[in-house]
Amino acid sequence: MTSVQTTGSGKGRRDPKPLMSTAVINPVMSDTVDDVDFPYEDDASQQQKVEALEERLEILERQNDEMRDKLLDANAENNKYQQKLERLTHENKKLKQSPLFVATVQELTDEGVIIKQHGNNQEALTEVTDEMREELGPDARVAVNNSLSIVKQLDSETDVRARVMQVDQSPEVSYADIGGIDEQMEEVRETVEMPIESPEMFDEVGIEPPSGVLLYGPPGTGKTMLAKAVANQTDATFIKMAGSELVHKFIGEGAKLVRDLFELARQQEPAVVFIDEIDAIASKRTESKTSGDAEVQRTMMQLLAEMDGFEDRGQISIIAATNRFDMLDRAILRPGRFDRLIEVPKPDFEGREMIFEIHTRGMNVADEVDFAELADLAAGASGADIKAVCTEAGMYAIRDDRLEVTTEDFEGAWRKIQQTDDEEAEISKTFA
Ligand code: ATP
Repeated sequence: MTSVQTTGSGKGRRDPKPLMSTAVINPVMSDTVDDVDFPYEDDASQQQKVEALEERLEILERQNDEMRDKLLDANAENNKYQQKLERLTHENKKLKQSPLFVATVQELTDEGVIIKQHGNNQEALTEVTDEMREELGPDARVAVNNSLSIVKQLDSETDVRARVMQVDQSPEVSYADIGGIDEQMEEVRETVEMPIESPEMFDEVGIEPPSGVLLYGPPGTGKTMLAKAVANQTDATFIKMAGSELVHKFIGEGAKLVRDLFELARQQEPAVVFIDEIDAIASKRTESKTSGDAEVQRTMMQLLAEMDGFEDRGQISIIAATNRFDMLDRAILRPGRFDRLIEVPKPDFEGREMIFEIHTRGMNVADEVDFAELADLAAGASGADIKAVCTEAGMYAIRDDRLEVTTEDFEGAWRKIQQTDDEEAEISKTFA
């Protein structure tokens, strides 16, 4: 506290009361009033002293107002900097924190939660709060700190599922769109359609419904189309996944994706699960016993486990496909795994004729065009090749400014497709 004294140059003034205010009269604004400089001479009259003091008071009040304004501004500024400082301190703290690791919950036990870290696959038993424990379940993704305590639960990996699985609620392909593989179509219908459409029949007869079929044959022969047509016929959801997507870097990920795939299928029941390129996870075991091989095996085992038992599986039919039958591990071809192994070959002459008819249904084809002739011409073509020939023939007509597609267009298109195939074969030989 500033003490108020009346010594110094103001020694003429002895009344302490008015002098209280003179403590701030000092224009130099000293902390004490020891050296207060009065604005009048000692011998000034009373009247002059009052006037001088009033004048000084006015000046000081104005100065005081100004100072108060400045103080307010400074306070506001100070607040702003304070907030900025807090923000930066927080950021700084965050940057200094060690990153959290991602792990998957394996099991909830009485002793704690067993988690498996991604990347190094180390398993650990860790404690969690009761609240968090209620939220967690097996396969939940969590973030753990350095001491492997669970810090928070992460969103499940639906994005990964969406990326690798193609879901089609009602595919547009029907059996009438598929040509040249009637026998195969019949077999697929028997094995896949029945369990979805009349599961009770299997119950009554007392046998397990077939778990799935394996289609094998060269590319572009209609394997995917067959699976889509079954889904369409049975009003089932079509879920497609490529086997190559199941081959993952980290242990357990492939098997988890298989579980996810079937979980999704159960949610969408009835469903047709189509696994393309099954050879990626079911290739013959080589001599090498790397951890990668073991992982691929585990993924396959998970798939076989999901295929087992209709009760657990629900109204889900499985169709797998491969272009590399020779590569497949015999183990997956044993009875009780895939119920039928169906070869889907390249179409024969009649098949090609039919496929030409199918793919020209909506086209404006000249009367002179003979599909038998085209089928003869396109010997060795797959269904996909024939589709490409039809589209290309249409392009020839458009380029020529015609609305009708002629035999000549088809012939030119076939030559072009063959040439492209040859070029592609050459390129893949170069890079092989
Ligand atoms: P991949 O082994 O390369 O996956 P895939 O056998 O599954 O090939 P699809 O995808 O079914 O072949 O066929 C590709 C396209 O070729 C189809 O969209 C269809 O237009 C045409 N196609 C193939 N086979 C036939 C067929 N038998 N009848 C009619 N069109 C066919």
